[in-house]
Amino acid sequence: MKEKDTKTKFRIIGAIILFIAIACVVIGLVDFFQVLGENEKPKLFWLFFIGFPLLPVGAVLFMIGIRRELTRYLVNENADILAQNMKIAVDATQLKKRICECGKENPMENQYCTECGKTLVSSCRNCGKIIDNTDKYCPNCGEKL
Ligand SMILES: [Zn+2]
Ligand SMILES: [Zn+2]
Repeated sequence: MKEKDTKTKFRIIGAIILFIAIACVVIGLVDFFQVLGENEKPKLFWLFFIGFPLLPVGAVLFMIGIRRELTRYLVNENADILAQNMKIAVDATQLKKRICECGKENPMENQYCTECGKTLVSSCRNCGKIIDNTDKYCPNCGEKL
């Protein structure tokens, strides 16, 4: 809560400084250009030199004030994408099953059928990689099985 209050203060102070800075710069410039054609010296041009260095100060304070919200927003976005990708990955592993000759669907990590005890995997005669009995071609080397 305390940190949130500080951030709010930063945001308000930053906005006020930014507003004053912009006002000073605008008034200073307007005054400068108003007297440009005449033989007068600008009276309020000094405001420009006060307002100009205040611009980044106000901007930085304002940024600090809203950074927390920005970060939270960005983190949430990334977390959503990550969760979606994880869900897709989990779905993919759950979809892939080893189907035994007897028709029983076995999880991918099983090497033997839980229904009839037959082996569910064999090795490719070309490259030796462990393959499903239901595979028609070796996923590693493309050998017809
Ligand atoms: Zn079986
Ligand atoms: Zn192979």
